[in-house]
Amino acid sequence: MEPCIPLPLADGNTLKELIQKAKDWAIMHGAGMRSKDSFSPDSINFAPFMLLPSTFPRCEFERAVGIQPVLNELMHKVAHDYDFLKNSLETTIKVDEFTGRLFNIYETVRAEGITQPFSLGLLRSDLMLETDWRKCHSEDPATSAPYCCWKQVEVNTIAAGFGFLGPISGQLHRFVLTELGHLTELRNLPDNNALEGLCGGMLSAWKVYNQPMSAILFVIEDVTYNICDQRFHEFEIQRQNAKVRVIRNTLTEIATIGKLDNEKRLFLNDTEIAVVYFRAGYTPDHYYSETEWNARLLIERSLAIKCPSIQYHLTGTKKVQQELARPGMLDKYLTPDKVESVKEIFTGLYSLGKDEVGDKAMQMALENPTRFVLKPQREGGGNNMYGENVKSYLEKIKDSDERSAWILMERINPPVQTNYMIRPNIQGPIVTEVVSELGIFGVVLGNADTILENTQVGHMLRTKISSADEGGVAAGFGALDSVYLVDIGKAPKKHV
Ligand code: ADP
Ligand code: MG
Repeated sequence: MEPCIPLPLADGNTLKELIQKAKDWAIMHGAGMRSKDSFSPDSINFAPFMLLPSTFPRCEFERAVGIQPVLNELMHKVAHDYDFLKNSLETTIKVDEFTGRLFNIYETVRAEGITQPFSLGLLRSDLMLETDWRKCHSEDPATSAPYCCWKQVEVNTIAAGFGFLGPISGQLHRFVLTELGHLTELRNLPDNNALEGLCGGMLSAWKVYNQPMSAILFVIEDVTYNICDQRFHEFEIQRQNAKVRVIRNTLTEIATIGKLDNEKRLFLNDTEIAVVYFRAGYTPDHYYSETEWNARLLIERSLAIKCPSIQYHLTGTKKVQQELARPGMLDKYLTPDKVESVKEIFTGLYSLGKDEVGDKAMQMALENPTRFVLKPQREGGGNNMYGENVKSYLEKIKDSDERSAWILMERINPPVQTNYMIRPNIQGPIVTEVVSELGIFGVVLGNADTILENTQVGHMLRTKISSADEGGVAAGFGALDSVYLVDIGKAPKKHV
C-alpha cells in the first residue's frame, strides 16, 4: 500500500530535526510510557511511534466503525447467555486452569444471585486488512486494490487500552504533517474521541449506580508501564465530572482494604465504589496467590458495576470467539442483516478439541502450519504460536486433552507499507516495511433485558514491522500510529 506521502523524506538534518521535534512533542503531550529498562516513577519515555500516519482505505474504515454497535450488541447478549458460555467453555475450563477459575467465579456469583444486573463493556474490536482473496467474501477479485477486505483479530472485553494513546497519535501526526507542509492532507486524518467516549461510559455507569459520594476504582498492576494511557482516563473523568473521584489499587491491596457491607456495597477503606474498571486481572500473572483471587471474587460479588463483569470477561475468550464463528451461532443474537455483516469479518476459526472436528483442524494445521495462528485463552500479547512452532506444538499435544485449551485461527496477511518507526534509544531511523492493526472502541452498558447505551466511540492503530508475528508496543515490535484515509478499494456490500 502506498504511504501517505512519498518516501524517503529528504535526508540529513531536516529529517533529524523533525524526528527530534516529534519525539519532544510526544513526550510533552503524554504519548509516552514508563521505561522498562530504566524504570523511574518520576519520568516517562516517548512510546514508539510511526513518524507518519498509515494509509487505510476509507470505505473499510467507515465499515469497521459502522459495525461496532452490532459487535457491542453481540458481545452484550452473549455475556448474558449462561448456557452458551457454559457449553462453549466446557472442555476448555477442564484443561485451562485460569479460564476454569474465572468460570468458577461466574458459577459462584450466579448461584448466590447476581447482585448487580448492569455490566459496562468498554470493548475494542481489533482487525487487519486481508490481502488473500481466497478468504474474502467479495465476488469481485479483479479490482486493483492492494487488499480485499478486513478480518477481525479479536474483541477485547477486558483492559482494552489505548483510548488515550490512539487519539494522541492522530494529534502527533497532525503536527508532523503540518511541519512537513502537508496541510491539505490533514483532512484525511479522522476525528478520534475515544478517550471522551470511554470515560463517558464509565460516568454513565457511575450515574446508574447513583450514589453521589461513590468513586470509580481502577484495578491496576503492581507496576504500570502504560501509565499515560491510564492517567489520561483519570484526568478525563475529572474533566467531565469533577465530583467523581478515581482511585487506583492492585488486586493484592483490594484483598486487604476491600469489604462488602450488608447490602453488598463495595468499600475500599471508607470509599464506596460505584464502578470497577479492570486494567489488570486478565492474565494468571496478576494472581500471585489466593489473595488476588479472593479480591476478584469480592469485586464480583459486590453491587459495583464491573467493567468487565466476569461473564463479559469470559465472552472475550478466544474459545468463545471461535464458537461464535461456527455456522448458525449468531442467529440467536442478531437480526439476519446484522448476522451477514458480522459473518463476513470472521476469518477461519477452528476448535482443536479431541473429536472429529478437532482432528480435522489438527490435520489441516500440521499440513500447512504457516497458514495458521495457534492461540491459548490468554490476553495481553506474546502467547500465540506461529509458523513452524504451530506444528511442533501441535505434535506435542496431539494425544493430550490440552488440545481443548487452544484454538486455531487462519493467519491474516495484511498489506505491507513503508514508514519510519521511531523508538527510544535507536539511532538513524530507516524506512521500514510495516503492517497495521486497527482497533475500534465500543461502549455498551446494560443488563440482561435492556441496553441503555451502545455506541462506537473512536479508534486506535498499532503498527509493527512486517516480519514480526506480534506487535506489542511496550515489547518494542510495535508502535503507535494513526490512520490516513484514502479512497482506494470499493464500497463494501452494505448489510447494516
Ligand atoms: P492477545 O489477546 O494476546 O492480544 P491476539 O489474538 O490479539 O491476542 O493476538 C496478538 C497479536 O497477534 C495481534 O495483535 C496480531 O498482531 C497477531 N495476530 C493474532 N491473530 C492473528 C491472525 N489471525 N493473523 C495475523 N496476526 C494475528
Ligand atoms: Mg489482541
